[in-house]
Amino acid sequence: MSAAAEVKERLNIVDVVSPYVPSLKKAGKVYKGLCPFHTEKTPSFVVYESTQTWRCFGTCGEGGDVFNFMMKAEGYDFVEALKVLAAKAGVVLEKRTPQAEAADKQRKKLLEIVAVAAQFFHKQLLESPSAQFARDYVARRELGRETISKFQLGYAPNQRDALKSALLKRGYAEKDLEAAGLLVTKENAPSIDRFRNRFVVPIRDIRGRVVGFGARALKDGFGPKYLNSPQSNIFNKSEVLFGLDVAKSAIREKNRVVIVEGYMDALQAHERGFANVVAQMGTALTEPQLKQLKRFTDTFVLALDADSAGDAATLRGINVARGVLSDAVVAVPTMRGTVQLEGKLNADIRVATMPLGKDPDDVLKTDPALWEKTIAEAQPLVDYYIHAITADLDLNEAKGKSAAVQRIIPVIKEIPGAVEQAHYLQKLARLVKVDERTLRAELERFSAATNAKPARRQRFSSPPPPPPFPEDGETTKPARRAVKSSTRLENRCLGTIIAKPELLSYVNRALYDVGIDVLAVSDFADSVNGALFLAVKQWAISEAPTLESLMPVVPEELHGHLATLVSLWHNQPAIPPDESLQKDLPKMIVRMRRLRLEETIKELNMLQIGALEAQDRALLARCQTDISHAKATLNELDKAHDSLSIMGRRRLEEKYLG
Ligand SMILES: [Zn+2]
Repeated sequence: MSAAAEVKERLNIVDVVSPYVPSLKKAGKVYKGLCPFHTEKTPSFVVYESTQTWRCFGTCGEGGDVFNFMMKAEGYDFVEALKVLAAKAGVVLEKRTPQAEAADKQRKKLLEIVAVAAQFFHKQLLESPSAQFARDYVARRELGRETISKFQLGYAPNQRDALKSALLKRGYAEKDLEAAGLLVTKENAPSIDRFRNRFVVPIRDIRGRVVGFGARALKDGFGPKYLNSPQSNIFNKSEVLFGLDVAKSAIREKNRVVIVEGYMDALQAHERGFANVVAQMGTALTEPQLKQLKRFTDTFVLALDADSAGDAATLRGINVARGVLSDAVVAVPTMRGTVQLEGKLNADIRVATMPLGKDPDDVLKTDPALWEKTIAEAQPLVDYYIHAITADLDLNEAKGKSAAVQRIIPVIKEIPGAVEQAHYLQKLARLVKVDERTLRAELERFSAATNAKPARRQRFSSPPPPPPFPEDGETTKPARRAVKSSTRLENRCLGTIIAKPELLSYVNRALYDVGIDVLAVSDFADSVNGALFLAVKQWAISEAPTLESLMPVVPEELHGHLATLVSLWHNQPAIPPDESLQKDLPKMIVRMRRLRLEETIKELNMLQIGALEAQDRALLARCQTDISHAKATLNELDKAHDSLSIMGRRRLEEKYLG
């Protein structure tokens, strides 16, 4: 049994969920309570003890197992959730290699060192007579006592080795202080403190552990104004977001995150009671950062300075945001696919521009109401983007108009939804004072040109087709066996992709062609499979995906499961030829979804019985709506399954009958 399965077996999901859902109560065969992930007055959060799963039948509409729950509740990734729950269940995680063990130990040591350093700096700021200048600075920034202690703000003394000697005295080794980024070495001289005479801000990861420091100069002539910890074993500034550890619950509560450029802005926001604010660490927003945020909300407001540097950064940020959010679902082979997916993402990205010449810190300090207004009035991403990419053009001249149309049409083409597209076409028409029909024609021309040829399908060298084609080995099982057969199907599907990574884009294309979603993490009911797929889908589109290149991108905790899938693949009676895999894999995915839906319907039926008993009419009505909705989706899946069968047969006929 894998560690994850053992954890699931030893823990009762009701015990894990209860602390997060104080209102959880037994109601018939299930437990019901107020959803911890959205605000509601009537309980629509249900826990099924029998299947050890949970589901929100309200706004979230999400559900899963005990791991998914911890991932959502605490913002953990799968491995973090596994570690926490394994400790709770008393399950020892799989044996690790000595190297991994050593690396882990080193990381732990460095984390301890920076945590002690943070205490040292903090104590200096609070107590040291020589820190008066720093305390004056903090007072000028109007940061209060609570903010100072909550963020453990500190002061690095104006000495060569105040921190170094304090840490050496506590028994830490100099080479470890260096590895933690706390010292700088110059040739032929003893190393000295990296941060001297600076206001120091500890940077924490999502779990609240100090991983590095941001430090601001207090006087001119002491090096750069802002100095961060260098990249290290524990600090990666393109992955961490300042303030996320304290902001995460507010972000979820407000269902919105405000992203500012620097930690001083974020500190000011928290000081003024705006708790859903985080800061980038001096670079453009990156993929890992946005993915962390996506765990808490779908609404992002980028609040950046109004000056031109701020604008350029904003544009960089936007490009990343668009890339990441489409990627969050799945990599899709066609442009059309990306657009289609973007509509489903339900992500709302906005840009708030501060009044000219001001940065968020100024606005927050002088006029918190204006801050609130500016954030509330943030422009939708596309509006902002259109404005920004045409700012340098003279829209009264023919040349400027034409350039604007050339730049904006591709943006409009990417917008999902006919209504929204029409809205932006009208907007563009007004902007350049050109007839809307002319622009629509331009959009159609552009769309036709970019959609003309779908990417060529991969050619497979042709082993003789296995006549006659075996009918699908697995048919839909009765619902009571859904859980087991769904995991089996998932294992087979994922194992096939790992053995034949080139099939992934082929399969997505086939699903897309019959009008259904491409393969996504959410297709895997088993959270171990989901976590593994997250790594596999990136790897599958890499240049030469091999098992060797897969191992390093899969978290070590999942290596055991990965090995199981690989051996399942190799131990099947006969490895299917590529052509039958091409035909079967998309159908396998459809069947996976079918099983999930049947499971949902089963859960809804249970809920319905409870509602009947309690004479809860509102709930009853909602169950009925949801059930008929689920049944309609089942129908769609069946149609897609049929189309896939027909398409598969036709392709083979074309190939072998000419
Ligand atoms: Zn909910």
